[in-house]
Amino acid sequence: MGQKKLYGYNGKIIRINLSKEKITFEEVPREWLKKYLGGRGLAARYYYEEVSPYTSPLSPENKLIIMTGPLTGTNVWGSSKAHIATKSPLTNIYTISNAGGHFGAYIKKAGYDGIIIEGRASRPSYISIIDDEVKINKAEDLWGLKISDSQKALLDKLGSTNGTIACIGPAGERLSKIASVQVDFPGLRRGGCFGRGGIGAVMGSKNLKGILVSGSKEVEIAEPDKLSEYLRSNVTLLRETTSYHTKYGTAQYIDSLYELGAYPLMNFTKTRVEEHLMAKLSSKVFREEFVVKDVACYRCPIACGKYARPNNEEYKDLRSKPEYETIWSFGPHCGVFDYNYIVAANNFADDYGLDGISAGYVIGFCMELYERGILYREKTGGLELKFGDGETLTELTILIGERRGFGEKLADGAVRAAQSIGHNAEYYVMHVKGMELTAYEPRAFYGMGLAYATSSRGACHNVGGWTIRDELLKPKIDRYAVKGKGLLVKGIQDVRGYVDSLGLCTIPRRALNFTDTPKPEVLKFVTGVELDEDLNTIGERVYNLERMILNREGIRRKDDMLPKRLMMEPIPDGPAKGHVLSPDIFNTMLDEYYAARRWSMDGVVSEDIKAALDLP
Ligand code: SF4
Repeated sequence: MGQKKLYGYNGKIIRINLSKEKITFEEVPREWLKKYLGGRGLAARYYYEEVSPYTSPLSPENKLIIMTGPLTGTNVWGSSKAHIATKSPLTNIYTISNAGGHFGAYIKKAGYDGIIIEGRASRPSYISIIDDEVKINKAEDLWGLKISDSQKALLDKLGSTNGTIACIGPAGERLSKIASVQVDFPGLRRGGCFGRGGIGAVMGSKNLKGILVSGSKEVEIAEPDKLSEYLRSNVTLLRETTSYHTKYGTAQYIDSLYELGAYPLMNFTKTRVEEHLMAKLSSKVFREEFVVKDVACYRCPIACGKYARPNNEEYKDLRSKPEYETIWSFGPHCGVFDYNYIVAANNFADDYGLDGISAGYVIGFCMELYERGILYREKTGGLELKFGDGETLTELTILIGERRGFGEKLADGAVRAAQSIGHNAEYYVMHVKGMELTAYEPRAFYGMGLAYATSSRGACHNVGGWTIRDELLKPKIDRYAVKGKGLLVKGIQDVRGYVDSLGLCTIPRRALNFTDTPKPEVLKFVTGVELDEDLNTIGERVYNLERMILNREGIRRKDDMLPKRLMMEPIPDGPAKGHVLSPDIFNTMLDEYYAARRWSMDGVVSEDIKAALDLP
């Protein structure tokens, strides 16, 4: 890109050392923008340079590397995403997490492409970034506040709604390894979160309550007229391809995945329940009886966020925005088929600053242990942890957020909970590399198992590969096929690698031509730069760089494995009954995947592929 004027980027980042109370501004190497685009790719590049494999996640040496992409903060639909790379306290390896809302857009509007936070403040602090004025401020008065109160207090300090906040709640302050960083002002506009991997605990370990950002600049676009014309002429395609997201949000997938027997219930013990229970969970019921408001990320016409309100007396004052994943984790994973409890538990998780997937997961996992007699009242502080008990679900969510009572045992995620419970409890944790599985039954479509196993951050359907479209919804390969899954998963991972690096949400990408065979016109209109390589190659580079980091942190084939239960016990019921991801099936897929990636059969990035992708 030479040293020409930049469009789409600001070309600089803020580095904030909390220990030294030092704030500096740095140019982003142009070469890195070209090779990694931004967002997820750029965050990985900085992490590769700056975070040693020996860094302890909650030490001052760990960093929060926050990066946006070239599209973040522009008027391109879905251009809302910011990414954080850090060493995860949950998994003890590299992790990457993204959030929508307005946080990334305002970082760009303030004049930066990213923020790197290092060290540890000597007292509770918050960072304010208001255009060129960047400060570390005292936050003793905020420490201990829940997310909603913290956001109100920070908003008061800003004195305007023209800004955004990313902050932690009590869970992050208490270093819960499943704590999140919540973004934006729920109720006022769409909130989001950097959810998985315990990023909130990293922030808490730095004595950092939050980051307040406000900016008055517009991201400069190289060819604004051409971009506007492109968006105008593709708006019908956008509506056609995202109408279900506008109506139901991601909850739309509940019904179809259940129908296909791919929706795991009660800690992956079944895929079928009585019809009347599942009927209460349909996306139609959610939309018609609980959703009160559609909310959108920065300048996004899709508005897939669905604010919901319980309609029972007990919780009627609560609001939250559960997604497909958290409807599952607080719902059928815990045997709860009632949106009143799901919306309420989701609200408590958000307000304490917990990752809703991990928090719901660990509760459902303990419910299974309780029903098996591995846990009992004397062990749970008197709680009766039965599947389907919504009252206990909400109570335990709060206890986890407060690290109190039995919640203390669960606040560091399911693997650590299992280790402290003993009695073979670990067998019942569905996780990869310490991160709990999400709302997809991989024995019902095998590519999903491979995606979970090879994801760059532990079990994850986004980073690992959302194979649902290609295996289930618009199948281009048989869901139980073994051959071809390695290639499929690699391809999906690479696409996601470039989309995340653009700073773009994946939902509108088809209408922007960021497909599996992308045409980067929109990127060209924004940056004015013609790419000299395919976007998928950039995505592949990002994925390989992440794997190089993981290799450096000790990750090998032995870690790219699924929970034993999924490899030994067939699905007991439903349309996928009898299917299991046996070691033979799984290892055949993994061999094909490593071969497609040109990694060694031990899962190590080869010199060959490093040279081909010009990796360090
Ligand atoms: S589609 Fe949904 S998640 Fe994506 S940017 Fe728009 S509102 Fe946000």
